[in-house]
Amino acid sequence: MDEKAIVKQIRFGSQKSGKTYTFDEEHDKTLPAEIWFQQSDEGLILFVVFYTQACRWSRCLGCNLPSKVSQHHVSYKFVMAQIDSLMSDPEVSSKFETISKVIVSNNGSVLDQETFSSTGLMYLISQMNLYMPNLSVLSMETRPEYVEIEELEFISRALEEADTPTALELAVGFEAFDNRIRNEIFDKGLSLEVFEELVLKMSIYGYHLKCYFMQKPVPGMSDEEAVIDIQNAIDYLARLSNKYDLHINMHLNPTYVAEGTALETAFRANQYKPPRLRDVVRAVIHSRNKPISVYIGLSDEGLAVEGGSFLCGEESSLTARIEEFNRTQDYTILEQILG
Ligand code: SF4
Repeated sequence: MDEKAIVKQIRFGSQKSGKTYTFDEEHDKTLPAEIWFQQSDEGLILFVVFYTQACRWSRCLGCNLPSKVSQHHVSYKFVMAQIDSLMSDPEVSSKFETISKVIVSNNGSVLDQETFSSTGLMYLISQMNLYMPNLSVLSMETRPEYVEIEELEFISRALEEADTPTALELAVGFEAFDNRIRNEIFDKGLSLEVFEELVLKMSIYGYHLKCYFMQKPVPGMSDEEAVIDIQNAIDYLARLSNKYDLHINMHLNPTYVAEGTALETAFRANQYKPPRLRDVVRAVIHSRNKPISVYIGLSDEGLAVEGGSFLCGEESSLTARIEEFNRTQDYTILEQILG
């Protein structure tokens, strides 16, 4: 597909969902869009968002992640330069020995070869094999339609050549469990059938799965409905994990009001409020004694409008305890928060 057709797809998606943000065309193409670290029960995680062409879907209701990247193609040479810059970043290189997981993102789909360079992906894997001796999981964010098992087999073989066995994880955005909310309101374009086909394919190889969910992703959802939606998602993922003997992590992001989206319009019209962190905890405690792990995302990535973040209120004091839960999966911490 040529670049113009892809730009058209991106614009179509943005317009369909009434997005008003612009893309970041001023960014230095030799630098990743963002890098940060997380601590989970899997150890130290490096999260890197490469600066590439934006997500081709681009239409999900509350998402303005594409605003951090370009609507135009970014050549493999720039992606390679971003990897060089990542590996020579003193904060990253000083942690090479302790990084146990890398999550690779481009705020879209890393496995979409039209927007993320294949050469860049291979180069990244070779650099990680060379310099991160204790890497145990490589996670790649993608929509399911870009997953080709042959490509995963190849990546997995390359990862096996490293000093430490490195498992492959696919990180898939699910956002809401309720079919109507996910596909009719949020416009995720993800059916359970497509998702379960992916799960079946992955289970044969033992790849790990991370599923992104958002608590209260759309206007018109009460706080209680939002809790129940996440509890239903937990039960669903637990069933799949048992059925396919699959390693599943739920990454739950409390929704923030992303600038330039329909959620911002609803927020300004007093028709939407972000979820309370206490309700997020109430939803997550449902995963206790279930065969999945849960990570609660606590970043609004600086993309929320003023007053539109779950981090704004007095509840932001809970973040340290929630981070402790993320590191330990100790459910007594969640019980204590709820009192
Ligand atoms: S949520 Fe993901 S798939 Fe949807 S528009 Fe945003 S980046 Fe694209």
